[in-house]
Amino acid sequence: PDLFAPERRNSQGFDLTDTEDLAVIEAARAPFATTSFAAVPLLAVPARGGATLPVGNPARPGETVGHVTQATRADVEAALGAAQVWDAPPAERAAVLTRAAQFYERDFGRFFALLAREAGKGLPDCVGEVREAVDFLRYYAARIEADMAPRGRITCISPWNFPLAIFTGQIAGALAAGNAVLAKPAEQTPLIAAAAVALLHEAGVPRTALQLLPGEGAEVGAALTSDPRVDGVVFTGSTETARAIRRAMAANLAPGAPLIAETGGLNAMVVDSTALPEQAVRDVVASAFQSAGQRCSALRCLYVQEDVAEGMLEMLGGAMQALVLGDPWQLATDVGPVIDLEAAREIRAYVTEARRAGRVLHELRAPDAGHFVAPVVIEVSGIEALPREIFGPVLHVARFKGRDLPKVLDAVNARGFGLTFGLHTRIDNRVQEVVEALRVGNLYVNRNQIGAVVGSQPFGGEGLSGTGPKAGGPDYVARLAAPVPAPTAS
Ligand code: GLU
Repeated sequence: PDLFAPERRNSQGFDLTDTEDLAVIEAARAPFATTSFAAVPLLAVPARGGATLPVGNPARPGETVGHVTQATRADVEAALGAAQVWDAPPAERAAVLTRAAQFYERDFGRFFALLAREAGKGLPDCVGEVREAVDFLRYYAARIEADMAPRGRITCISPWNFPLAIFTGQIAGALAAGNAVLAKPAEQTPLIAAAAVALLHEAGVPRTALQLLPGEGAEVGAALTSDPRVDGVVFTGSTETARAIRRAMAANLAPGAPLIAETGGLNAMVVDSTALPEQAVRDVVASAFQSAGQRCSALRCLYVQEDVAEGMLEMLGGAMQALVLGDPWQLATDVGPVIDLEAAREIRAYVTEARRAGRVLHELRAPDAGHFVAPVVIEVSGIEALPREIFGPVLHVARFKGRDLPKVLDAVNARGFGLTFGLHTRIDNRVQEVVEALRVGNLYVNRNQIGAVVGSQPFGGEGLSGTGPKAGGPDYVARLAAPVPAPTAS
């Protein structure tokens, strides 16, 4: 066999500079431009269903994208009772997940429309998100081993910032090992989740092995992480919620039940005086402002070496001027809205405070309607000055003296997070120095620090940023499978 032949290829996606590809995208998503979508609890038994709520478009207040019927406590109870591990042979599970990947690619137009309208995602992010979901399905299918046995019931609680990719990745990982999944999507993005689960069922995942329970974290999420019938939890969201889940699991679940958590970050980048300024600026803009900064991998604190800071920051201001803020449905848009009014208000209040303190260096203007926050650059002394993770297009910058790099790295470590880090330098030794000093999950050199690729850049953090095997990495599925019993001595 050819040792270098790939066992699997990542999804191809689209070329957004190609007019033919754009025409294909336009034709596929247009039918869903005004569709009213629906999400309901999808259980293996009839669901009761609670309140039905409208779901809005963050870029267009007033537009209703669809309605969600919340799961009730009775629905959680029914789902736990009806859940059954997926006892199909490993090869069949792999085939079903692979077929689901095909269906995701087939139905990308519906997902692009939903991602733009429900989650405010621009076209490049839509392409990235469907690709990543497809890659998770195929990659985890390829990680199924012949003797893998399920743990039992796995709760998957997913975030609104990757409402398709992370939602699908968690589920695919748990299903690959044959578990019965209880999926609780983020409150803000139940419609995408329902569309995804419908495809997974269509591909052949039994309804007893995958049930969808839209609802509030405090109600549905809490019930699904504190019930002794649950055998493990996969969670992406805030560090605070992850802590609460850990406590609930410790008190109620069997000892050893795994928690895979991907939480927040206070991610830094260092640009030294040997870096290529144009390249560094481009990568700073992408890292801080793509997806309106709503990635846990996003750059929050940029350190620029003093000698080159003036020029770099001026160039950054110029590059920001070229950013187009607006409706994510439009191809020209670079920065869309933040997820909801509450998020917009919180971030705007933070920026107002910084403006009052005279620390705003660059700021754009946001459209009036919609939950937009203008990208902004705020000067700080260092990462220790950041009060918390601000989940939006807010970049902090600090200057450092070359000889103080070790202090900068200490300051980053001292915050206790450890998700992504960016380094722009042309000094090879410096890369090694940073690799050795820093405790982070994903370190990127001379490029942006977002958009980890399934299978080649497993993603996940240390410390306050998360626990458990990395998403899109070789150990993820195995962690959700029953532990292999130790061989008995003969
Ligand atoms: N995996 C994403 C990335 O590398 C970030 C995931 C998240 O924000 O939760 O950008």
